[in-house]
Amino acid sequence: THFGFRDVPVGDKQKLVGEVFSSVAGKYDLMNDLMSLGIHRVWKRYFVATSQVRRGDRVLDLAGGTGDIALLLRDRVGETGSIVLGDINGEMLRVGRDRMTDQGKVSGFEYVQVNAEKLPFPDASFDLVTIAFGLRNVTDKDAALREMNRVLKVGGQARVLEFSEVTADWFKPVYDFHSFKVLPVLGRLFANDADSYQYLAESIRKHPPQAELKGMMEAAGFARCRYRNLSAGICAIHTGYRV
Ligand code: SAM
Repeated sequence: THFGFRDVPVGDKQKLVGEVFSSVAGKYDLMNDLMSLGIHRVWKRYFVATSQVRRGDRVLDLAGGTGDIALLLRDRVGETGSIVLGDINGEMLRVGRDRMTDQGKVSGFEYVQVNAEKLPFPDASFDLVTIAFGLRNVTDKDAALREMNRVLKVGGQARVLEFSEVTADWFKPVYDFHSFKVLPVLGRLFANDADSYQYLAESIRKHPPQAELKGMMEAAGFARCRYRNLSAGICAIHTGYRV
């Protein structure tokens, strides 16, 4: 195991995704700001602020990457709460842990290298499970959703923040131009890596749109599933509860 993270076997299908994120880990935060003009920060704040997180909660942030969501959650769970940051990619976790340490945020975090499809946690371990811009990259999304449901306590909430289907017709051509023309250029210029950003645009188009993902959450066992679009459907937040 690298960097002292707990290791679990990671499926072959996930290897490629793992490599994509290894190649972008160092530039990941800069690229998010460039690609979204900083708006991803607003989406993430909204995502955490509207979750049912409370002081003292134990939270799992899946596909937590470099820790944006975990950092926002930290203030909300307080000293008595704790956050497990889980990601399949050791390099992303390492960048995240360094970043927390630089900010003096050490206690209350655990870093675990996990595949969201098969979580190494017992049933009913968490009050809240979040996954932001991560489900899209998971090969077996149904399995991941079932696992999120399993590790939640009864009454616990699952929240998914993900790119979704743009709803406003006038905006679609603008969005396509940004995805297929601007992104690869930004990737080449700032991360020396056009391919990973080509992959990004394609993975967004392949991801199940709002209503379909809601149905998948219901099929995975979640109750009271609903979603809310952000920025004309560029993103959506899906919520479901363990019953
Ligand atoms: N949540 C962070 C954020 O919002 O900035 C990071 C999002 S990043 C786009 C996607 C993350 O998903 C990467 O760190 C990648 O390693 C992780 N990932 C991809 N497949 C995964 C899987 N099967 N299980 C857990 N994490 C996965």
